[in-house]
Amino acid sequence: MNLFVIGQGGREHSMIMKLAESEKVDRIYAAPGNGGISDAAECVDIDELDIDGLIDFAGKKQIDLTIVGPENPLLAGIADRFHEAGLAVFAPGKDAALIEGSKQYAKVFMEENGIPTAAYASFTDAAEAKFYIEKQGAPIVVKADGLAAGKGVIVARTVQEAISAVDDILVNKAFSEAGKSVVIEECLNGEEFSLMAFVHGTNVFPMLPARDHKRAYDDDLGPNTGGMGAYAPAKDISSETLAFAAENVLQKAADGLAGAGRPFTGILYAGMIMTNDGPKVIEFNARFGDPETQIVLPLLKNDLLQVILDVLEGKDPALQWEDKSCAGVVLASKGYPGSYKKGVALPEINSDGDTFVIHAGTRKTDKGIVSDGGRVLFAGAKGKDVADASEATYKWLAQHVHTEDFFYRTDIGQ
Ligand code: ATP
Repeated sequence: MNLFVIGQGGREHSMIMKLAESEKVDRIYAAPGNGGISDAAECVDIDELDIDGLIDFAGKKQIDLTIVGPENPLLAGIADRFHEAGLAVFAPGKDAALIEGSKQYAKVFMEENGIPTAAYASFTDAAEAKFYIEKQGAPIVVKADGLAAGKGVIVARTVQEAISAVDDILVNKAFSEAGKSVVIEECLNGEEFSLMAFVHGTNVFPMLPARDHKRAYDDDLGPNTGGMGAYAPAKDISSETLAFAAENVLQKAADGLAGAGRPFTGILYAGMIMTNDGPKVIEFNARFGDPETQIVLPLLKNDLLQVILDVLEGKDPALQWEDKSCAGVVLASKGYPGSYKKGVALPEINSDGDTFVIHAGTRKTDKGIVSDGGRVLFAGAKGKDVADASEATYKWLAQHVHTEDFFYRTDIGQ
């Protein structure tokens, strides 16, 4: 089969590495891909939002299945357009992807479908939002309604901080269209975890629970980022909690979307906080998480392409997982998530046994691979438990990375 993967991050490199193991695969194309993906797939320079260009390419190259990584093309309706063009795609339509694209929609949807989540209110008027914040007190969480690449969520420790967040979003339009309204949410306490599932209509097949670390520096300090490291499985989440989340979060979401005439196909991701009252949802994503994918897929024993084909045919893919753990750490450009240099030559690091390297912001040049983004590489390892996997990752990073131009957290999975 000829596959076409849309996206250019570590998540897409990880998906492609796993897909490439399948005997069913003839060729994999990626648009636009990155420096590492170009070793495993043929990269084509088409933007992820150039849907006409992507459809045209898929037709010409006789693509059998297209798999979409990032959220922006989903919300731009890529899956609907591929279907209209008679092309097979593993991704949700625009209506179903709204569960990620609008936090307000997601909250109303959770309320209507009895999915446990934090108490909230939403506003388009700044004065009303501020009045609500003053009534509720702090800590409190302020979220821009739409997609903001992880930057639209402010966990405010004081009322003043929450009020400035409302001003930034509603008055100063810091997130333009994505900030037309705000969701103001009760601040939950507890360990975070995420659970992804392969979904087609009302069929839901959960993966292993994972934990990512979004803050830039050790001990979960510093600014929020796209994610600095992750591990799986999150063993502190009990099997009872996982069964509860599978039934009361993922299954209810798939059933609710199907019931609302927005049936979901693809990867449904629930980000949750384990509170004293059980798990509560803080966000849904309509795609594989990044960097969770990079540490969950290496533990999947099945052929990933076969899993997707089974799910699309309404069959149970009978997911099987290695009895190991996987941890991984992001190598980021110094300065990220603020401004940073691009074009820095990368240390020579390749996958080796249970240790692996995934490319995110990298680009191939005549002089070799250079950095091309904030999150540059993702180094990970499998081990008998998370501590073991984390130790192997750090040992390996210490051996291979000797440059001031990059940094990484030293406490992932420790
Ligand atoms: P964006 O929409 O900007 O892309 P996002 O979807 O990544 O952001 P969330 O996952 O909703 O944003 O929130 C980011 C982080 O904020 C979470 O990982 C969590 O640490 C914190 N957070 C979000 N909601 C709450 C809450 N209700 N209580 C406590 N912490 C929260």
